[in-house]
Amino acid sequence: MGGFFGAVTNGRSAVLDVFFGTDYHSHLGTSSAGMAFWDSEKGFSRAIHNIKNTPFRTKFENNLHEFSGCSGIGCVSDTDPQPLLVRSHLGVYAIMTLGIINNAEKLIEEQFSCKGVQFMSMSSGKVNCSELVAALINKARTFEEGISKAQELIDGSMSIVILTEGGQLIAARDAMGRTPIHVGRSDDGFCVSFESFAYEKLGYADYKELGPGEIDVISPDDCRVLKEAGKDMKICAFLWSYYGYPNSNYEGTNVEVMRYRNGEVMARNEIVNGNLPKVDCVAGVPDSGIPHAIGYANKSGKPFARPFVKYTPTWPRSFMPDNQQVRNQVAKMKQLPVRELIEGKKLLFVDDSIVRGTQLRETVEFLYDSGAQEVHMRSACPPIMYACKYLNFSRGNSDMDLLARRVIQELEGDEGQKHLDEYADGTTERGKCMLSAICEKFGFDSLGYQSLDGLLEAIGIDRDKICTYCWTGKE
Ligand code: SF4
Repeated sequence: MGGFFGAVTNGRSAVLDVFFGTDYHSHLGTSSAGMAFWDSEKGFSRAIHNIKNTPFRTKFENNLHEFSGCSGIGCVSDTDPQPLLVRSHLGVYAIMTLGIINNAEKLIEEQFSCKGVQFMSMSSGKVNCSELVAALINKARTFEEGISKAQELIDGSMSIVILTEGGQLIAARDAMGRTPIHVGRSDDGFCVSFESFAYEKLGYADYKELGPGEIDVISPDDCRVLKEAGKDMKICAFLWSYYGYPNSNYEGTNVEVMRYRNGEVMARNEIVNGNLPKVDCVAGVPDSGIPHAIGYANKSGKPFARPFVKYTPTWPRSFMPDNQQVRNQVAKMKQLPVRELIEGKKLLFVDDSIVRGTQLRETVEFLYDSGAQEVHMRSACPPIMYACKYLNFSRGNSDMDLLARRVIQELEGDEGQKHLDEYADGTTERGKCMLSAICEKFGFDSLGYQSLDGLLEAIGIDRDKICTYCWTGKE
């Protein structure tokens, strides 16, 4: 995934706004981060750092004295280092992007057909996404035309933020609005932000949320639409259920509120269907499973508890060692049991989702090792049947990596892959078979998934505007 923040102010330094605003996006990216500023006297300044093992703030505080200017942008990213500084006939500008380009190789080859075109190569031989987007933009006469054309050519999803020579911001939300762009307004300027909460403490209030495909140009006194929003939207449902921060709002729905509601809907449906298990307490798999579990506990009347906690003071989420063995060890070290709440107890756990199931196995073993009598598992979203092809969402590379698809293959071979809808529905014979196969695999006493209707009810906006491709395979 990734996140970004940009600010443009009237005569006041934007450096600290961008520094703190970008830092508030650290939950969205763990690989690299960068900031760029434009100063009317000095021009551009920029820094990019690897943040795999050190948080954003620690990495960038030494750069702060090097930066100046009334406008700037910053980002955290799970992919390529950015923002990039580009010089073209459109001037010098800084660009950062968020999304995925599935047809990158084709677009690069097309560029090569114009003789003399070249890209900087990363050590993998790949081209930085933002550089490719810049190359597409630079083909056009204006930023507006270039961004529109780039978004049209890209198969995937691409939001773009540009800091121009002269200090304006240009913000372009991806064509289907899969990820958000918020604009905040203060007494002396504007900001753009992925997360709506990132600017409140910096003195900005909500101004607007860009619509799908909308392009705005922003200066200290004005936020002007360059290209109107399209009619159709497919905003990512996982913003609410998994990766958004609790106090963020998207399309008017708060993340934490949605998660409580989601857990309530799950418990309500189980009460109606008569399959609410008899448990001693309800718990969430930390961290994002917790609010779904609170909702479930509130509705089911079972007490909420925290039978295992994460040790976070010295293991920030961004700590991602390259070595797999060390990564596994770190995952283990982070999980701490509260034995008094586990021994001899019947526990119901709610996780935000069940993707490949790797982490889940360790969690369950750890609970049984700590003396749990029963472990019941609930997923706050339906079985994931398709890997995301719109965002750099690290949760699935190929469809057959997904737990549900693997289990279906084990149960029925290729024939099973033709009945995914049935398998996704826990009330059908196939759905029941999949649930019991997963229970057996992991040693759960029961397993339940939120239904798609339940998830959409909890989000609460027009369901046609929500991307559900992960579950339905429908675009
Ligand atoms: S496919 Fe899934 S993860 Fe990707 S945008 Fe759609 S809902 Fe989000």
